[in-house]
Amino acid sequence: MNTNFEQWFQHPSEQSEKIFQELIESTASIIVNKVMKVNKPFTGASREDIQAMAREITRMPVCGQHIESVMDDIQEIVKHSLSISHPSAMAHLHCPPLLPSIAAEMIIGALNQSMDSWDQSPMATYVEEEVLKYFIKLIGYQANADGVFTSGGTQSNYMGLLLARNQACQTYFSTNVQRDGLPIEASKLRILCSEHAHFTIQQSAAQLGLGINSVVKVKTNDQQQICLDDARKKLNHLHQQELIPFAIVATAGTTDFGSIDNLNDITELADVYRLWMHVDAAYGGALLFSHQYRHLLGQLSGADSITIDFHKLYYQTISCGAFFVKDRQSFQHIMYHADYLNPEEDHEEGIINLVDKSIQTTKRFDALKILMTFKLIGTDTFGEMVDYTIQLANKTAQHLRLNDFDVIHEPMLNAVLFRFLPDIGDDPQFVDELNIELQRYFYQSGELIMAKTKQNGRVYLKFTMLHPLNTFEKMKQHIENIKQIGKKIKREEGEKIYEYSVHY
Ligand SMILES: *Cc1c(COP(=O)(O)O)cnc(C)c1O
Repeated sequence: MNTNFEQWFQHPSEQSEKIFQELIESTASIIVNKVMKVNKPFTGASREDIQAMAREITRMPVCGQHIESVMDDIQEIVKHSLSISHPSAMAHLHCPPLLPSIAAEMIIGALNQSMDSWDQSPMATYVEEEVLKYFIKLIGYQANADGVFTSGGTQSNYMGLLLARNQACQTYFSTNVQRDGLPIEASKLRILCSEHAHFTIQQSAAQLGLGINSVVKVKTNDQQQICLDDARKKLNHLHQQELIPFAIVATAGTTDFGSIDNLNDITELADVYRLWMHVDAAYGGALLFSHQYRHLLGQLSGADSITIDFHKLYYQTISCGAFFVKDRQSFQHIMYHADYLNPEEDHEEGIINLVDKSIQTTKRFDALKILMTFKLIGTDTFGEMVDYTIQLANKTAQHLRLNDFDVIHEPMLNAVLFRFLPDIGDDPQFVDELNIELQRYFYQSGELIMAKTKQNGRVYLKFTMLHPLNTFEKMKQHIENIKQIGKKIKREEGEKIYEYSVHY
């Protein structure tokens, strides 16, 4: 036996055990010292410097190097990463991961179960199934519902529309798309969603051969929810043109605003117009555990299919998401039998091969992260975490208003969209540039990571306040600092403000 090979695998030898312990210890030490103990979310290194360091570190050796020297390099990578576990990192729907999720990653990696066929994941398959059943019950679905873990919202939304499209082609054109491809009449198919729906709705439509133009955007009301009157108007208009609206996508937690469409009303509308209703709850799906805000999801069980992301407001490591369907028969539209993997006999014998309902083949055992998280933390505390962040976002929005910021909405979840207004009468172009500059300044200072976006053609800043360890005191400080810096940005061309330093 060549011990040079042996030491690199999980193998019952002293060598392997030693190397593994060393790797884990130095990894844990990097995490404890360089991830947990950072005092700001970003070092502020320039892009050029980061690229140069990456180039240096990624030189591949012919012979393996010593663990200390390798881990020193890895530490550099960690050091210049965005510290998403720092409460002042508030740009995107990108969460601080819970410790149980991080620990579970290690077991997922060590087992390396592939979730496509039962024989590769005999226990993991059933764990995934049971975790999904738990969520199915929580959603309020009946026993004939089903689900599958996915890589995230993009994949889940794609699956929802894929099933809906295939069903529609069966219903309207008696075409089995899986077997025969799209019929010519498929160009008549239309999907409705709000103007604030996630871009993956259009992306999916494009990939499904329906085209971006098959997505009809419905106007929203003053709470950034689907406007039902406009939805009816658009539906009637489509029917008049002899087009075929077959699906409506409601969003529970829009990416920019965190607004939640009125799911009960949309369920009714979908019934009347015979639409497949998909709910994109990538963000808002965590309200299933909320003590205070669960009602905002309404009768989620009215949906034909649902997207829930666990790597957003469920605080799981990337990637972790799920897709649910009201009727498990829908998965027939994508089932494919391979003799070597999931033969039809398996099905007859009651053997579950998760590849039957997935568009992935080799697939991660992400369900373990959810299981470990909820077993350790409990659903009660989890719900409290989510509620706390929403309350904090509401208080922050109020405080911004008191300080003369323009806040565009009343937060429903924990995203707050706002912009700094210098002086009344400043031209809108300058206000836009000023806010872009603010976002950049704070990113480069490394102290505060915000997002920027556009609404009604104007630039807005965004706090996505996912972190339960954020505080109102800290938010007041950030707001004061934004104000101070904002006032210093002058109109003079070319004047930069980087010499000013913020004191925290
Ligand atoms: C994040 C998000 C998505 C995309 O999900 P990924 O997990 O990034 O693939 C889709 N819809 C909404 C509303 C989201 O917030």
